[in-house]
Amino acid sequence: MGTDEEKNGDEGRHMEAAEAGTKDEMAGVPTLEEIERHPMDELLRTERLPHIWCPGCGLGTALSCFTSALMRSGLDLDKVSIVSGIGCTGRVAGYLRLDGFHTTHGRAIPFATGLKLANGDLKVVVFSGDGDLIAIGGNHFIHAARRNMDITVICVNNFNYGMTGGQMGPTTPTSARTSTSPRGNLEHPFNVPNLAAAAGATYVARWTVLHARRLEKSMYKALLKPGFSVVEAISPCPTLYGRFNRKKYGTDMIEYYHQKSVIRHDAQPWEVDIDLGGEIVCGEFVDIERPTFQDRLQEMFGELHPSDDLVLLHRPPVELESHGATELTHIKLAPSAPETAGFQPRQTSAGVQLREPMPRARCLERAASAEAGTLEVQLCGFGGQGIILSGKIAGAGAALYDEREVTLTQSYGPESRGGACSTALIISDDAILYPHVSHPCVMVAMSQESYATYHGQLAEGGVLLIDADLVEPDPAAGQAPVPIPATRIAEHELGRRIVANIVMLGALTAVTEVVTEESMRRAILDRVPKGTEELNMKAFQMGFDYGRGLVGEG
Ligand code: SF4
Repeated sequence: MGTDEEKNGDEGRHMEAAEAGTKDEMAGVPTLEEIERHPMDELLRTERLPHIWCPGCGLGTALSCFTSALMRSGLDLDKVSIVSGIGCTGRVAGYLRLDGFHTTHGRAIPFATGLKLANGDLKVVVFSGDGDLIAIGGNHFIHAARRNMDITVICVNNFNYGMTGGQMGPTTPTSARTSTSPRGNLEHPFNVPNLAAAAGATYVARWTVLHARRLEKSMYKALLKPGFSVVEAISPCPTLYGRFNRKKYGTDMIEYYHQKSVIRHDAQPWEVDIDLGGEIVCGEFVDIERPTFQDRLQEMFGELHPSDDLVLLHRPPVELESHGATELTHIKLAPSAPETAGFQPRQTSAGVQLREPMPRARCLERAASAEAGTLEVQLCGFGGQGIILSGKIAGAGAALYDEREVTLTQSYGPESRGGACSTALIISDDAILYPHVSHPCVMVAMSQESYATYHGQLAEGGVLLIDADLVEPDPAAGQAPVPIPATRIAEHELGRRIVANIVMLGALTAVTEVVTEESMRRAILDRVPKGTEELNMKAFQMGFDYGRGLVGEG
């Protein structure tokens, strides 16, 4: 027994010796920091981890196989896009450090199709679940296969709708129990490889997540295969599907795959149905060559650049003069007018009440500036007024003739006969990455209900044109709408109420210049029914003259 100092001295020496020993032993062993870095970290958004998947779920394995396949493929990751739909598998797009899109239910394939058509250099992968791809998105699946769209689909099949409570899905085996088939499934399920093969896919394989190495190899092949390639990954969902079918742990399901899977590459796709308790036939069932949709497109139209698509739709120039158009003038709004100026009625030769020159809206000025050349426009009214046609005309005028970037979305549900329908455009000098219009700078309202529904969305300082006789504006909104007697002009001056929308387009063109006058005229002539061109040109002219009067050019 020594003194405390001696003891402390001994302990200190022991610790030093122990540290020295540990250092020797640890030589060459990765540090904690190094261990925590996973080889796949480059491809994962690690800041989003931990993931939401349940213990025992097979999605992690499916994703791991995919990341390995992608790394091995040598594809330029800056040119790989991943698209998911809704469901547990839908989270994949958010966990990968790629350009990822988590789309609406069942719409991953059409979204992917759009991506691929817009940029043929991309490798586009759809990674989604059986419910999303084969039920809600089933039609998209078969038609993308039929077209041989050049995309890869990874379908993780867990035989049920896991995220929403374990309901029966399109691949649930006959007799399997789910939360909505407690006595067993009555319906015959889809056989995913057979569906893909019958519809025209060029590569079709199926593996369970137990076959991780083979699954990864098939994903690798699918990524490099031109055309519509499909890999089905059978994956445990112990939390819901397993629990209802006496396999409540992930290991139970993996054990089941071990017992029941057989590899049969020469199996015909129609022979690989999956029954409850039966074999799971795995393998590569289809590997064929056939021209992709893009090949055919190129064959028909030659080398395409995304913006060239518009040229295909371009129609020959029309003779404006033959339809009574006046000399084309580039209208300038009065920039110096105070923004708050009111409108004073004045009389025109046509007997229409006009107003003093109106100021140019603040957001129109902003949109015209070099920094922000993007404009949101919304046209609304009731069904039957030609609102949707007006949107198409304005969009075509801007895209085809003004050669600007344009998106168009429509809202025309069953309620629109008498209710509010709407069409919304984004017009820009740059690529438009998202088509949703939230705060339009220019709005046209041609019915009371559509005004009530949409006027609150008008951007601050935006221009609101209303049909003078059909819309009673809300003074509390503080928006100073511009009344255009479009329906009155159409009825009284032209004898056809049906062209009120074209009168309104004329006024819109004169007041806002969202589309140039010449382009709007051309787009109208392209789209109105044959034999009505003259009437529509007159309608446009009257609306345009009225609008010019408003801006002090009439
Ligand atoms: Fe996986 Fe099923 Fe859990 Fe969804 S519910 S994360 S599929 S185990």
